[in-house]
Amino acid sequence: MSEIERREDRTPGRRGPWAYSSAPEGREIVRLQDRYDLFVGGRFIEPKSGRYFETINPATEETLAQVAEAGEEDVDLAVRAAREAWEERWRDLPGKERAKYLYRIARALQERSREFAVLETMNNGKPIKESRDVDVPLAAAHFFYYAGWADKIEYAFPGRTPRPLGVAAQITPWNFPLLMCAWKLAPALATGNTAVLKPASTTPLTAFLLAEVIEQAELPPGVVNVIPGPGGRTGEWLARHPDVAKIAFTGSTEIGKILRRSVAGTGKRLTLELGGKAANIVFEDAPLDQAIEGIVNGIFFNQGEVCCAGSRLFVQESVFEVVLDKLKARLDTLRVGDPLDKNTDVGAINSRDQLEKITELVQSGIEEGAEIYQPDCPLPERGFWFRPTLFTNVSQSHRIAREEIFGPVLSILTFRTPEEAVEKANNTPYGLSAGIWTEKGSRILWMAERMKAGVVWANTFNRFDPSSPFGGYKESGFGREGGRHGLEPYLDLDGSGR
Ligand code: NAP
Repeated sequence: MSEIERREDRTPGRRGPWAYSSAPEGREIVRLQDRYDLFVGGRFIEPKSGRYFETINPATEETLAQVAEAGEEDVDLAVRAAREAWEERWRDLPGKERAKYLYRIARALQERSREFAVLETMNNGKPIKESRDVDVPLAAAHFFYYAGWADKIEYAFPGRTPRPLGVAAQITPWNFPLLMCAWKLAPALATGNTAVLKPASTTPLTAFLLAEVIEQAELPPGVVNVIPGPGGRTGEWLARHPDVAKIAFTGSTEIGKILRRSVAGTGKRLTLELGGKAANIVFEDAPLDQAIEGIVNGIFFNQGEVCCAGSRLFVQESVFEVVLDKLKARLDTLRVGDPLDKNTDVGAINSRDQLEKITELVQSGIEEGAEIYQPDCPLPERGFWFRPTLFTNVSQSHRIAREEIFGPVLSILTFRTPEEAVEKANNTPYGLSAGIWTEKGSRILWMAERMKAGVVWANTFNRFDPSSPFGGYKESGFGREGGRHGLEPYLDLDGSGR
């Protein structure tokens, strides 16, 4: 029996550091519908495809609702609605008017924040304290931030004549369902584009709640449309539609490559936010207790299902033992379980498929000779769970050190000199983010200049702000979301049309 199977055989029961009383967030605030229809042209409508698919709670495996699947005709309807809204209303609306709508959406997100947080947690599996304190407030912050830009677009690009592009196809992943909608919709709407949004199939529910908010905010019909459906069909039809001017995609590198090929030669604009294998680098002079918190947050936040997760830890050899001891002790205190419990640190994995992917990669780590450490914490009987996991004795050639796991799994490696740290950290096809832990300011600058990563955090990790651009190098994608840079992909800046 493998190490993993043996550990998962243990009977759950609260004891030791896991003996705490639960503080469940009530789910009554969420009024689940049995069925969610497409949001097209400002109305919720049954899909022409006639098809619905089930969406579940990954922490309990219970069915939450049936969700409309957009077929090819539905995609066409949605894109046409978005095009009409753009031509007849949205592109000529003064920026200050567009700003009002964005403010209304932001305010409604704040007013209904608890409802959004509970629904997000139920559909995604993430701890309520994260959806409550991170996902929903950041989503609102994005709408506020881009509302501020809506009437100042020309000032952002002096000497140029920025024009909106038209219909933006926006395809989002399941790890931050609402937040990724906000990252995409807020800059698109602020710059005068309209949108057709295809949320990930396992987590469509907060996109529908957002559609409800958009309806309440009285956005002109068709400015935002929400059409779920399987990526390989709905997503592809949407991306290929001739009336789509711009595609904004967040998801896997594999699908990003497919999209890049499919838009080649069409003149459509494309931005890709893809996978990552971030390095968190700890020097011997780092504030170690602070670093431990940053490392834990870096890899266990959102169960490690984060594109910029700090999944490779590089520790300077002289402090390796002390860091490892502290990390193990900290892991033993993490509370894994009911995502609606306000005390929970690590929630459910989003789907059975994702759990299988994590399990397979962790098994490969054991087979390739790495040493595994997992706390003994109890796990719920139903749902998709994976214990926080550390690997030592990891070689750079191991799959766990090279491939994106997208789960709560940290590979620990060592280095001796800053040069070696840079060389090892950059030895990956990805380049989304990195973290550096040291008291020396000059070293932070020296390292940051050499790291091939879109974001470099110093003495912190996983910090986001709507005013900061985010995006990748290499196979982590191209284009930036957030900040003034996030306006650019939605604008024709040189009069070249598309
Ligand atoms: P995914 O499988 O690539 O799916 C992302 C989205 O694309 C989903 O809506 C999916 O629909 C859709 N899709 C799938 N195949 C498609 C196709 N052929 N054409 C058009 N759309 C298609 O990724 P995921 O598993 O949802 O998300 C995890 C990945 O996202 C990770 O690699 C992670 O690193 C990356 N990510 C990156 C960022 C970033 O900012 N760089 C942020 C978050 C996540 P279905 O749901 O129906 O498959």
